[in-house]
Amino acid sequence: MWSSAAVAVPLDVVVAGAGPAGLSAAAACAAAGLSTALVAPAVRPWPATYCLWADELDAAAGPLGLDPAAARTTMAARYSPTVVRTASGGERELTRGYARLRNDAVHAALLDRFTAAGGRLVTGRVRGLLDDDGGEVAVLADGTRLAARTVLDARGGGPATAQQRAWGEVVAGPVPDLVPPDGALFMDWTALAAPGAPPAFLYGLPLDDGTVLLEATSLAARPPLPLADLRERLAALLTAHGLRPAGGAERVAIPLDAAPRPAGPGTPLGAAAGLVHPATGYSVAASLRLGPRVAAALAAGRDPRPVVRAARPRATAALLGLGLEVLLPMDAAATDAFFGAFFTLPEQEWAPYLDGGSPPSAVAGTMARVFGALSPAQRARLLRGVAGGTAARLVAGLRRARAAASGR
Ligand SMILES: Cc1cc2nc3c(=O)[nH]c(=O)nc-3n(C[C@H](O)[C@H](O)[C@H](O)COP(=O)(O)OP(=O)(O)OC[C@H]3O[C@@H](n4cnc5c(N)ncnc54)[C@H](O)[C@@H]3O)c2cc1C
Repeated sequence: MWSSAAVAVPLDVVVAGAGPAGLSAAAACAAAGLSTALVAPAVRPWPATYCLWADELDAAAGPLGLDPAAARTTMAARYSPTVVRTASGGERELTRGYARLRNDAVHAALLDRFTAAGGRLVTGRVRGLLDDDGGEVAVLADGTRLAARTVLDARGGGPATAQQRAWGEVVAGPVPDLVPPDGALFMDWTALAAPGAPPAFLYGLPLDDGTVLLEATSLAARPPLPLADLRERLAALLTAHGLRPAGGAERVAIPLDAAPRPAGPGTPLGAAAGLVHPATGYSVAASLRLGPRVAAALAAGRDPRPVVRAARPRATAALLGLGLEVLLPMDAAATDAFFGAFFTLPEQEWAPYLDGGSPPSAVAGTMARVFGALSPAQRARLLRGVAGGTAARLVAGLRRARAAASGR
């Protein structure tokens, strides 16, 4: 670990923050031959359980310099089938594989790549960013100034009014009545359903030591659901199934509608750049994909900001934000019907909605198809639930999507 005082000369890149976005970008920048410093209060394997679609990891591994074979084996657990359960649509096995990062292995591989290429680790907290003489400066809490051509700001997402929340417990496995033994339970909207209770689904993954992680998840709520409510609902489910927590609870709180960082010095990355998907809370795949693209732009002497903007096209972000507003007022039955309909679509029709980098036409197309797959009563309820302005924007957006799809 280098001290901040050791970095005296201007660098090509300073990366603030060592989450998935910061570390992957720092490793890619160093490997591209850019003199790079990574500043964070601590650089250690990420504690959260990070998942993504298996094909997303395969696509990200090569550009990140991860051994593709290791990315398929030691660096991630792969799950098949990926199961969705709703009261309205029954149980569905998705053909798309799901994966959980083995954080120790991925983190070590990225950090090795970073340090092997001469990257410098700086322990500290960035207090502010400045423009300076054609470059940028990260000012640390202890007053140290790190000057660079570009500062990448990956310090995480800001506050939000809507959040995804989850309470997770690890139990002895397997628990085949809840989670398929080698598979992932992506969403079960039936397991935690209770009269009058806000929507929450069960998420479940077998872990490497034979235990199973079960999480009671509120996909999106404004104000966020209290974690204690989710803990209680999960506890009731565990009791009903004769299961006991085996230690290692996971608490999840993901800001879903954080305002974009105001323009200024530094290029935001990851959650700081608004890459968190407003309706799923996911950003890890998008960040792993983005790091090498940003590094390539910087190595070619280009401004990285357009590359970051392209990772979340503005019109796509607007549609996904609208999708979040549609979800928020839904009660448990409407949410169940929505996801029952969503996952009746073929994978190539629902997958674009879950990727914030998709073109807006693809996202609008998914929205229109889900709307079309709902019963007339469910459609009416969905439109009644959303505020007038949102409903009008939704209907207009769907009309535009239909017109675009039919070539008019
Ligand atoms: C428990 C949990 C589970 C999640 N699971 C998933 C999942 O399965 N899939 C998925 O896609 N998303 C998931 N998310 C959501 C999201 O993808 C993560 O929050 C992800 O960590 C965001 O990555 P990031 O690198 O942008 O920011 P962060 O991971 O928040 O990293 C920010 C970094 O900046 C550092 N930092 C903060 N302030 C400063 C400062 N002033 N100076 C220097 N460094 C600073 C922090 O120490 C940290 O290293 C989950 C979130 C949580 C909380």
